[in-house]
Amino acid sequence: MSNPLYDTLFGRHAGSDRTFLRFSDGSTLTYGVFLETAARIAHVLVARGLEPGDRMAVQVEKSPEMLALYAGAAQAGVIFLPLNTGYTAGELDYFVENSGAKLLVCDSAKRGTLAPMAERLGAGIDTHDADGSGSLMDSAASQSTTFETVSRSADDLAAFLYTSGTTGRSKGAMLTQTNLLSNAETLAAHWRFTDEDVLIHALPIFHTHGLFVATNVTLVAGGELVFLPKFDLDAILEAMPRATAMMGVPTFYTRLLDDERFTKDVASNMRLFVSGSAPLLAETHKRFEERTGHRILERYGMTETNMNTSNPYDGERRAGTVGFPLPGVELKICDPETGDEVPQGEVGQIEVRGPNVFKGYWQMPEKTAAELREDGFFITGDLGQIDEDGYVSIVGRNKDLIISGGYNIYPKEVEMVLDDQDGVLESAVIGVPHPDFGETVLGVIVPDPGAEPDLDAMMAACSEALARFKHPRKLVLQEELPRNTMGKVQKAALRERYAETFS
Ligand code: ATP
Ligand code: MG
Repeated sequence: MSNPLYDTLFGRHAGSDRTFLRFSDGSTLTYGVFLETAARIAHVLVARGLEPGDRMAVQVEKSPEMLALYAGAAQAGVIFLPLNTGYTAGELDYFVENSGAKLLVCDSAKRGTLAPMAERLGAGIDTHDADGSGSLMDSAASQSTTFETVSRSADDLAAFLYTSGTTGRSKGAMLTQTNLLSNAETLAAHWRFTDEDVLIHALPIFHTHGLFVATNVTLVAGGELVFLPKFDLDAILEAMPRATAMMGVPTFYTRLLDDERFTKDVASNMRLFVSGSAPLLAETHKRFEERTGHRILERYGMTETNMNTSNPYDGERRAGTVGFPLPGVELKICDPETGDEVPQGEVGQIEVRGPNVFKGYWQMPEKTAAELREDGFFITGDLGQIDEDGYVSIVGRNKDLIISGGYNIYPKEVEMVLDDQDGVLESAVIGVPHPDFGETVLGVIVPDPGAEPDLDAMMAACSEALARFKHPRKLVLQEELPRNTMGKVQKAALRERYAETFS
């Protein structure tokens, strides 16, 4: 009888009085007490009629109980399905229906709106609020603090995680125990996590970054999380002097740098800053090192695969790259049309294989067949290249590739030129419909605060640096780029906004 995921991440901490979570008000929660809550919740899941392999959809604010729901689900063999708190009732309908969830746990304020949908779809409903109240914990209170762990095999499904929906409708990635566990163990070893680590956790826990990277790595190592409900500069600056690590999206780092209280001194106890989910500008990397002496470690992953590559812990962390394939992960760069590997150094589509790669998209056999090759390689949809030293860099998404007059244009290449110009904070280059070329290049420029970049000079700089077919046909100024909660630029929204520019 065993349950690899539960046993390795959670079970072995049972009874431990070491701190698992620390909150802003100074209070803490031990591993032992956390696992008692998880066991109580596992009993509630059984009482609600959930059986191993059933799905539980969870849309609640970040809270310790949400992590206990994850642990309790693992212990009861229930598939955990966390959902972005930003999703509306209409969007939730899709996730609950698509996943066939047997139980939906939501905020009490949303219960009234969601209950009819849950009933129509045959799902039970429980509530849980950020302050710990709600029907879930009410029921849990009277349950036993121990639960006989349900036996599961390494190949059983542990979670459904829906992709962020950046390029289309979110897809439910089926993740097995092995997918999660292998990656957690690999990352913990690769990034040298131990039970001495204190990780600042300000990411959401409905996404792979905050849940399966930051949390699982800490659980594997037996370390501590400074558990913040969201990104909060004051709280992070307060926590940092006694913390050792932080994981964040690139905007975390730019926001820290924008605050002068963030100094080398404040970061002196830290040993590791990790960035991912979206590209970290080389400029941010540089400024961060100048300010703190730390080089941010950038890595690359996705919902379907957890993490694929990482810059080295020791050795050069190269700005603008996502490092090397992780141990056990194979990565190749292929021609998107033929699937053949391209010559070293050329741009192509990234494909990955390893124990981290998911089982497929839930109830989307065609999509699964199109993206998961029979030999186990997953076609990521990201374009990248590998330099002569083996560092992988992400050039953009296949869907964002601009094809103008028959030529391929990688937005990143143009963005890098634009980002380098005076007064430019960042840029996004997109393809928009054009009557002669099919598509043409449009650059959206975000100025530095208070700056008024000279667009003509920028056009001239592009002419100098780039072949003619890559030149933006138009540059527009915008105060900020549309981003989702994970800091991803919503290029589809930009394409829509500027679709009529040349018509
Ligand atoms: P969808 O698949 O629904 O369109 P999504 O791909 O944005 O949404 P996620 O799985 O959350 O959903 O994001 C994974 C993607 O994030 C990767 O495929 C890649 O494009 C991007 N990404 C992750 N880390 C990095 C990084 N370090 N640099 C650049 N891009 C990154
Ligand atoms: Mg994706």
